[in-house]
Amino acid sequence: MEKKQSSSQASGNPSDYVIATMGSHTALQILHGARQEGMRNLVVCKKGTERAYKSYGVADEIILVDDWSEWESIEDELIKRKAIIIPHGSFIAYMGHDRVKNMRAMYFGTKEILEWESNRTMERKWLQAAGLKLPHVFATPEEIAKPVIVKFHGAGGGFGYFIAKSPEQFYEVKNRKYPEQNDFALQEYIVGVPIYAHYFQSALTGELEIMSFDKRYESNADSIGRIRAEDQLAANIHTSYTIVGNIPVVIRESLLPAFFSMGERVVEESKKLEAGKGLFGPFCLECIVTRKLEIFVFEISARIVAGTNPFTMGSPYSWLKYDEPMSTGRRIAREIKFAIEQGKLAKILG
Ligand code: AMP
Ligand code: AMP
Repeated sequence: MEKKQSSSQASGNPSDYVIATMGSHTALQILHGARQEGMRNLVVCKKGTERAYKSYGVADEIILVDDWSEWESIEDELIKRKAIIIPHGSFIAYMGHDRVKNMRAMYFGTKEILEWESNRTMERKWLQAAGLKLPHVFATPEEIAKPVIVKFHGAGGGFGYFIAKSPEQFYEVKNRKYPEQNDFALQEYIVGVPIYAHYFQSALTGELEIMSFDKRYESNADSIGRIRAEDQLAANIHTSYTIVGNIPVVIRESLLPAFFSMGERVVEESKKLEAGKGLFGPFCLECIVTRKLEIFVFEISARIVAGTNPFTMGSPYSWLKYDEPMSTGRRIAREIKFAIEQGKLAKILG
């Protein structure tokens, strides 16, 4: 109902709208990008977390809430301001899918795709249909026959993941550290380097762009190599993957065609899912590249990822294409601005 209402009131003037997001994750970049495209913006922050948005001066308006449970109570305000919500990792994590689905304010992206990305079985079906190489999945701990990475459902930023190479080793760690947790996936551990590919699929032009790549800086996976193997054993360290930051990467140029093709197939396949308009806007394929240059995809994020944060000024790739600083946040704002100007807002709202 509301969606119809908002499009019937649609204005062709971008400054009648406000780009809005939640204060965390990629908000600085999203707000800054809106400014660069001449659009107004606002950020909703949990009280006490607004410092960065004030300090960097990127927000036109900061709305404070005590708790994310208050989101619905400010929604009428957001609707009144013609806010277009940009979802990101923290937004999905704090709101939960059901609340996002029921949100009445304008939303950039396809809400239905969230279910496909968050349900491991559905996600796998989608990526497999797109012809991507995926790590093998073991259905039960008893089947573990080679090193696996154990992922608990909803684990925030890789926290609590561990490696096991046998059923015994799996139960030893699980029963000791996570006795209550029974919702987990057992994925073949791929030996290689992690590469996160950041894409942007334009719903207006149909073009797929590669915006940038990053690798993550994870604690303590990225620090274990700083001590001798025998000290690692002595300290009995279990590898964990708590995300702390992101590091830019430029990939070997001859790998680019493969990354373009992978992104295109994922977008193509998304149109066949029961997922509204399919995948558009920013998304990320989370990959491990092996020494034989095989690219395994272990996850998709169907929204802006924090790995785009090093590129507020654009990446080497977006520089090639745009010849001006083009962050993913700014690319989103540009898509929204063009959609409004061309009377095609409905194309980019989910
Ligand atoms: P935060 O708002 O920083 O507490 O993050 C909420 C969730 O968003 C985390 O649990 C992560 O899943 C995700 N997240 C936040 N920052 C990053 C990052 N730099 N890279 C990847 N995921 C992130
Ligand atoms: P995630 O929270 O799923 O993005 O994964 C956190 C980290 O675990 C990644 O940055 C990778 O370093 C690692 N990882 C996840 N899945 C695999 C896999 N199948 N093989 C090897 N490493 C993985």
